[in-house]
Amino acid sequence: MNIVLLGPPGCGKGTQAKNLGEAFGLAHISTGEIFRDEIGRGTPLGQEVQSYVTRGALVPDELTVEVVASRLDKTPGDFLLDGFPRTVGQAKSLDKYLKGKGRRIGRVVYIELSDAEVVKRLGARWSCTTCNEIYNLNSRKPKKDGVCDADGGKLFQREDDKPEAIKKRLSVYATLTKPLIQHYTDSGLISQVDGSAAPEQVFQQIRKVLDEASAAKA
Ligand code: AMP
Repeated sequence: MNIVLLGPPGCGKGTQAKNLGEAFGLAHISTGEIFRDEIGRGTPLGQEVQSYVTRGALVPDELTVEVVASRLDKTPGDFLLDGFPRTVGQAKSLDKYLKGKGRRIGRVVYIELSDAEVVKRLGARWSCTTCNEIYNLNSRKPKKDGVCDADGGKLFQREDDKPEAIKKRLSVYATLTKPLIQHYTDSGLISQVDGSAAPEQVFQQIRKVLDEASAAKA
């Protein structure tokens, strides 16, 4: 089944997507990670998107859709989209693209989290420079300060996890991304889980939702 993970910044999409991808054998496609990788390598695409990403604004729809479509073209099996779509325009373009390929979204998992919790989490988030593992200084500290438990990589704080960018990302989320909840409710695809629980519990909630969705499909 093809899955979309939806939710505010810091709701745990990245962590859940990584675990779900491994557990269900899905290709994990994260637009945020693609953009950060392109920026890190200084590619033309990276240069084009850098100013949007660092200030917490959205990269224009047309460019983002193009990036995802080209990734999906190279992904024949089931996939999990993390951080895309983020606007109703992107969702409509995705629907159209998938329809043209005879593919479709099976379930949209909405990970709900309050603004206050988002601010608290993002300010304490650190990620690994090499494997993208995510830590939180309040709830999931690395064993050694600044070093990834998984592969010993150096941890860094994202530019857009600084206070001004967090404010901007929350307002962008409220105005441009939240309407997607209605869009996918209308298509009967959405299931909501509580993102304030511990990551393992959120994972179990999502697993239950997906099991129910596959049983209903069978
Ligand atoms: P994320 O890692 O998902 O929080 O994304 C980090 C940043 O990448 C966002 O704040 C945007 O600047 C950009 N970005 C990621 N996904 C999208 C998207 N679907 N549409 C536009 N911009 C995006």
